[in-house]
Amino acid sequence: MIWDELQQNLAELAADGLLRRRRVLDSPCGPECVVDGQAVVSFCSNDYLGFANHPELIAAAQAAAARWGVGSGASHLVSGHLRPHEEAEAALAGFVDFPAALSFATGYLANLAIVPALLGRGDAVFADKLNHASLIDAVQLSRAESHRYLHGDVAGLAAMLAASTAKRKLILTDAVFSMDGDIAPLPQLFELAERHDAWLVIDDAHGFGVLGENGRGTLSHFHLPADPRVILMGTLGKAAGVAGAFVAADRRVIDWLVNRARSYIFTTAASPVMAATVTQSVALIEAADARRAHLQRLIAQLRAGLDGLRWNMLRSETAIQPVIIGDNHEAVRIAEALFARGLWVPAIRPPTVAKGTARLRVSLSAAHTEAHVAQLVDALRALA
Ligand SMILES: *Cc1c(COP(=O)(O)O)cnc(C)c1O
Repeated sequence: MIWDELQQNLAELAADGLLRRRRVLDSPCGPECVVDGQAVVSFCSNDYLGFANHPELIAAAQAAAARWGVGSGASHLVSGHLRPHEEAEAALAGFVDFPAALSFATGYLANLAIVPALLGRGDAVFADKLNHASLIDAVQLSRAESHRYLHGDVAGLAAMLAASTAKRKLILTDAVFSMDGDIAPLPQLFELAERHDAWLVIDDAHGFGVLGENGRGTLSHFHLPADPRVILMGTLGKAAGVAGAFVAADRRVIDWLVNRARSYIFTTAASPVMAATVTQSVALIEAADARRAHLQRLIAQLRAGLDGLRWNMLRSETAIQPVIIGDNHEAVRIAEALFARGLWVPAIRPPTVAKGTARLRVSLSAAHTEAHVAQLVDALRALA
């Protein structure tokens, strides 16, 4: 039967320690949650500022639902573009200091919009090898040539750009790499983009709200300008604590996306409840310096606590702190041992990361306490 092969493939995944399953939470997103009936401290979420369950955002969502209803009813170009969407876009553009912004229901859709709208056959994309899956899929969808440079290898990228005869060029990168936590060399990438008249597309899913002045993101972290060749994508389900994403860019880029980006045009607009809540979240992000400072202290505490362990920590200064285990089965075993001690840390395995680099991906949040981090440090030291 047609499904026999699937059953065999699933059995192979299980044998390789690669079968994934979902755990059910009986609590809101937060450091202390109830999972499969057990109370645990979670180091899994991307809720870096602890906003996902923030009372002011809950109140904003309730008020927006009462005022605007829950559904947008159509795509943005038909009748789904409500006042809260327009206001969220203005708030986001103003916050990141770009001329215009366009909101999307998810970051995946935002990334699928950009590259295929700007490039086609005969054009070329230059992408970091560790880019997020949504960026990789966007390149495929665009039909442009794909050149992948070694992670962070500016010299390699420069050589590829110099050798290219493509009509249009685009440099594509995560700002903060989602499985390693390190920051892309944006100033050098920007310089190369200028030299080769290329677009520079930056996915700031993990920098927006966390890095830069008042959480403006990774461009601000490097004091880079909102140049017309820079296209910034940020997600709103991570530090912003809500859902969705935005693209901020030159007005001409935004107008072109509205007219040509298929993943913008052919999908229902996000709920106006989410859009109104995002506007409130932008105000909270801007005022969250104390939370960002607390997060930085937790990062330093974790790194100091795990220093000298037999497992390697990557050089990350962000909330994403991977502990490299190597073997898939061992990574899963350690994650399970932590879970038994009431600590929930995801084991990340291939194909999400390279073979032989299975890891615990510790995500810290401003909602964690120093006691939470101390508990994780003690457990990992005991297990090592
Ligand atoms: C999470 C993530 C996305 C996707 O954003 P969603 O809003 O979750 O769809 C895109 N890029 C990166 C780097 C991410 O980490």
